[in-house]
Amino acid sequence: MQKVRVRFAPSPTGHLHIGGARTAIYNWAFARHNGGTFVLRIDDTDPERSTQENVEAILRGLRWLGLDWDEGPEAGGEYGPYFQTQRSDTYAAALETIRAAGRAYPCFCSPAELALKRDSARDARGLSGYDRTCRCLDADSAASRVEAGEPHVWRFAVPDDLNEVSFEDAIRGNVTFPASSLDDLVLVRSDGTPTYNFASVVDDALMDITHVIRGDDHLSNTPKQILLFETLRHPVPTFAHLPMIWGADGKRLSKRHGATSVEAYRDSGYLPEAVLNYLALLGWSLDAETTLIDSRTLVETFSFDRVSSNPAIFDTDKLEWLNGVYIRALDVDEFVDRMKPWILGAGLASAEELRGLDDWLRKLAPLVSERAKRMDEIVPIISFLFSQDIAIAPDAAAKALSFPDAAATLTAARDALQTPPGFRDSEIEAALRDLPAALEQKPKTVFQAVRVAVTGTTVSLPLFESLELLGRDRTVARISAALTFLEARARVDAAEGRT
Ligand code: GLU
Repeated sequence: MQKVRVRFAPSPTGHLHIGGARTAIYNWAFARHNGGTFVLRIDDTDPERSTQENVEAILRGLRWLGLDWDEGPEAGGEYGPYFQTQRSDTYAAALETIRAAGRAYPCFCSPAELALKRDSARDARGLSGYDRTCRCLDADSAASRVEAGEPHVWRFAVPDDLNEVSFEDAIRGNVTFPASSLDDLVLVRSDGTPTYNFASVVDDALMDITHVIRGDDHLSNTPKQILLFETLRHPVPTFAHLPMIWGADGKRLSKRHGATSVEAYRDSGYLPEAVLNYLALLGWSLDAETTLIDSRTLVETFSFDRVSSNPAIFDTDKLEWLNGVYIRALDVDEFVDRMKPWILGAGLASAEELRGLDDWLRKLAPLVSERAKRMDEIVPIISFLFSQDIAIAPDAAAKALSFPDAAATLTAARDALQTPPGFRDSEIEAALRDLPAALEQKPKTVFQAVRVAVTGTTVSLPLFESLELLGRDRTVARISAALTFLEARARVDAAEGRT
């Protein structure tokens, strides 16, 4: 059997988006499953919208997902170059082949003429698109007009005796297009650049691509591409068209539905393995139950027969849930490693300060990993641990520090926390355990007051562990600062006659 060669061929007109990433994942998984080759080709034939920045973002996005390519930018390969803009000679040669086969003709119709034709009644033969005016030109006069430099495009002449184009899609089964739906498509634009359909086929042919796996927005291009493969006398690859990805409203996924670029998900705290898992199962399934799948299992089990032909709904809540599952499954050291960029990025500590904090971060890790569905959520949860002082949120003060004995409670807690010889969570707990009874307060009242004094908020990590992580000095200093805050508030209240 022929060795599998597949390609992911993004146009660098934007960053790697969710749909493109899923196409890349399926191509990669199919190649790896079959011991084949995964080619990355950059379809940059649109000079106005293609940028180097986008190329780099696409490569970064793929690498972040853990996808590697065997041939393409930065990997090289014997079928290169892998940027379409560097392959002009190849397209020129292919145009010659199509001309020699009598299937290409120059078209001199101006854009204005074409627009007029589109607006006027459809051709009597029921053909859609271009009415083929220039196909009927005398070959010699057409050649001399080309010679004289008259602006023209090159069109493909769809065979007259063609009834239909039919192919067996690996996902959708038999697909048939009537010849009447096929236009004499443009192969080369008037500026000499190849169109997508032409360049894509030439490259797929010369790069020996065996399977074209892509979104089904390209389905209607496929019959045209098949005709081109046949004209170039190249075996037609197997096509596998992936179902569209929709937003929850049943419309094609777009910016309206929120972030669509893979890197935006990275930046909002998603783990690459969770995104890979989610996208792998967005249109493909291992079985009816599996929701957790790693890249190795994906490679082992991937096949087209479990790709659905129905649109898949992109559900951010589900992705977030899955991300939480992955976060909780990280082991402590791994979580610490993933936490560091977020600590640095939020400016909570410098790289210098973080060095030497590994043991401390390891203690913190399990407390945080349980509470975050996204890595960005850890920043507000842990920021109180990184500052010298904290500001007490007014609503937290109102809720937890406004009972009559608040000052006495905090003073007693501060005293109790000075006594244990060590400052481990169990020692802290023991030191504070008898306080509520002694103060004739509910445990919740006492502990909530300490929590707000030390963390500034009513919702935070478990109290005793938090105090341990903070250390005795900062804990005591924060309780003292809260007492000062209470005194100041009492003075204002007294001055304004509220006591
Ligand atoms: N550059 C095309 C796109 O990004 C590739 C389509 C294809 O895979 O043929 O849509």
